[in-house]
Amino acid sequence: MTAGSGHRWYDELFIGGRWRRPATPARLTVICPHSEEPFGEAAVADRRDVDEAVTLARHAFDHGPWPRLDPSERMAKIEQLAAVYAGHIDEMADLITAEMGSPRSFSRLGQAAGAASMMHLALATAREFPWTERRRGVLGEAQLRRTPVGVVGAIVPWNVPQCLIMPKLIPALIAGCAVILKPAPETPLDALWLAEMIEEVGLPEGVVSVLTGGPEIGEALVCHPGVDKIAFTGSSATGRRIAALCGQQLKRVSLELGGKSAAIILDDADVDKTVAGLKTAGLMNNGQACVAQTRILVGRRRHDELVDALAEMMSGLRVGDPTDDTTDIGPLVSQRQQQRVQDYIRCGVREGARIVVGGDSAPAPRGWYVQPTLFTDAANDMRIAREEIFGPVLTVLTYSDEDEAVRIANDSDYGLAGSVWTADVAHGLEIAAQVRTGTYGINMYMLDIGIPFGGFKHSGIGREFGPEGLNEYVELQTIMCSGARPPAAR
Ligand code: NAD
Repeated sequence: MTAGSGHRWYDELFIGGRWRRPATPARLTVICPHSEEPFGEAAVADRRDVDEAVTLARHAFDHGPWPRLDPSERMAKIEQLAAVYAGHIDEMADLITAEMGSPRSFSRLGQAAGAASMMHLALATAREFPWTERRRGVLGEAQLRRTPVGVVGAIVPWNVPQCLIMPKLIPALIAGCAVILKPAPETPLDALWLAEMIEEVGLPEGVVSVLTGGPEIGEALVCHPGVDKIAFTGSSATGRRIAALCGQQLKRVSLELGGKSAAIILDDADVDKTVAGLKTAGLMNNGQACVAQTRILVGRRRHDELVDALAEMMSGLRVGDPTDDTTDIGPLVSQRQQQRVQDYIRCGVREGARIVVGGDSAPAPRGWYVQPTLFTDAANDMRIAREEIFGPVLTVLTYSDEDEAVRIANDSDYGLAGSVWTADVAHGLEIAAQVRTGTYGINMYMLDIGIPFGGFKHSGIGREFGPEGLNEYVELQTIMCSGARPPAAR
């Protein structure tokens, strides 16, 4: 592998903790979405590489030292990894910006620094985690052990790559699992660089592999009988397929999927503060966020005022080079994504919604940019209100009373996030309790990496972060003992 002036080439795969020649010479080229120039390459795994990684992981889990260490010994290794990572946060942020176009300000805080914090938070959780405990059953006292789930396949998309890897890799490793990570083909380089840091720390053979490639490699991992659990983040369509495949083998699976979250603006909301909040909550990471508040629900009385304020905010956004610190909206990850979002904008117009700001034409001759676009006069049965667009597009919907606002918010296949904007926080809590989503914000929406995160309905199964996130990587074993108390829990 080589690194220099931000460019990275990896012609080997990280399999079982060592760099090895892949089975084929195939390569992935990473194209910078701003310049449209290639700036890195990664080897591509095939099924033979998956087999090798699983064989090594299986051996590490079934016979190696890693699952048999005390959790505190594994945590010491993760502390070392966190220390190495801490020395590279700005460079990691810049690499992610170059790979997928996230503005530097977001990459620094929301991507790389966020990923580093996730390591420390997982360690703090693990220190308090009840690895073993006593419990009284009807037959007497039993010991409960939380034991690693086994070989984990972790599959992630490209939008916040390091922040999607960490809540899987770190708790799984702390629990004693072996992990095979498959990053998205759009963002292989940050994952391979993380592999270099893992190599520097030195984990036992077989404990970590990073296999770069596309859906076929992900699916080979999902179907492999040597893998005990799949931890997946991505689209609901892929999640549904992975859940079905895991079901055939009764493999454990956790899924973090898509969203189409509603921000309910109540009549007593402060419009300026709401619009300032929605600038981030709706448009962070160029709108490529699963938790983006993209359906904006407002009562008829405040509609025009809110739309005017949103229009002013969105037409003032700085769209351009994501490496510029003042940029609000960078390019989308790929030309395919740019075309997909432009197709949705055209679809909204065809369905009868009205564009207030933006449109489907590209704002720059080069780079995969999309204009920040605001729709109003939309209905909740339009595709722009039902499907995840994953770009800088907001859709305003009007409600006649609060019951209707809640009904529209819940009228979605998804249930990932949501928010209510009001002067009356107690009333905001009442609204929150009526909306079927995994996370909710009152006068804000931010994903909090210190508390459980996950979706209702088609937004997923399971939770990340906190003890609930660590629980996804353990099996619970209860031990009873005839005629005696089991030994005290450690
Ligand atoms: P995607 O489902 O197409 O791909 C995600 C990952 O799965 C990639 O690594 C891909 O190569 C792999 N993959 C694709 N098909 C596969 C298969 N059949 N078997 C195994 N692996 C397969 O997702 P995408 O469109 O690239 O990513 C964006 C999606 O991710 C959005 O829907 C977004 O909402 C979602 N997302 C969810 C969260 C969350 O925490 N809930 C966070 C970020 C992104």
